[in-house]
Amino acid sequence: MNPEMITGVPERRCAELAGRSDADIGGELLGRLAVHSAVDHDTLARWADSALTFGRELAATANGNPDLDVTERTGGVEPGRRILLAEYRSRPAGVVVYTDAVERAESLIDEVGWREWYPAGSVRAAAVAHETAHQLLHGPAATRLRRRVGKVALRLGSWTVHAHVVGAPELAAHGFAAAAAGLARTPVLLTAALGELAAALRHPAERDV
Ligand SMILES: [Zn+2]
Repeated sequence: MNPEMITGVPERRCAELAGRSDADIGGELLGRLAVHSAVDHDTLARWADSALTFGRELAATANGNPDLDVTERTGGVEPGRRILLAEYRSRPAGVVVYTDAVERAESLIDEVGWREWYPAGSVRAAAVAHETAHQLLHGPAATRLRRRVGKVALRLGSWTVHAHVVGAPELAAHGFAAAAAGLARTPVLLTAALGELAAALRHPAERDV
């Protein structure tokens, strides 16, 4: 067994992630989307920073968060693919929290020593807040986010048209969740680490192969 493996995630990789800013990590996550593959690192990090900040501000100004129905189930850990903490369901409107994924995330935080940033129990609160943000990021808020992130699609004299940046709402939701759950760092860092963990996990049947 590789001594570096803790819960399947290389410790060095987590330390490397923790040493970077959330905007930098967010930019990397955006860059993995095919649509942004030709965009340079600094632009991606700037988009990520703007979206995270927008989300934080939205949490501070949103009055009366939508009261979403929260249900719990297992099935959020998909070895080799992803670890899904929660998801939004539209009919009926509500949030599904994946308890197995939340437990994995909580133990990862302990193992890599990130409690200072993500207090015990905060993963679930942040996951629910994240889905709440997605519900708020429609209509006028979506337009404001587009303007804030600032990818210029077209300029006609003094008139500027801003294009939608794919992935920006996801980062805004992370910024929102950080503010709503009182986190010192946004869940972007945790999301990146969980992505590494998911990739390192294998289905039980594959383990002895
Ligand atoms: Zn999301």
